Amino acid sequence: MIYKDKMQFTRKFEFDAAHALTESFGEKETQLHGHRYRIDITIESLVKNGMAANLNELKKVVQTEVIDVLDHSNLNNHLNIPSAENIALWTWGKLKDKLQGLVEIKVYETPNHWVTYRGGENTDDKG
Ligand SMILES: [Zn+2]
Repeated sequence: MIYKDKMQFTRKFEFDAAHALTESFGEKETQLHGHRYRIDITIESLVKNGMAANLNELKKVVQTEVIDVLDHSNLNNHLNIPSAENIALWTWGKLKDKLQGLVEIKVYETPNHWVTYRGGENTDDKG
């Protein structure tokens, strides 16, 4: 029997970066400080020959387009408001044309809070 069904495939990525935000994000957020960010990238595809995603291709695209750009950087140089929300929008903009079947991005600023984005109308590169 050949299984051919839709499945979601997720790969976790991590990077270290600094940012400073306005006080509305929290008192301590105004000082330049670092986080170990986690980004979960999910693509949806038909399972073909037991495979839903080309993991090597997924890793290569995310590494080149997102991780290599943001890792050990000051996120304020990439985004006007470098919140987890805007990192998710920025990441979506970088990947949407390069990763077939991209359906969801999660950005964890800490292990305790994260945002989930599934695409939308107004993706702006500059938060
Ligand atoms: Zn922060």
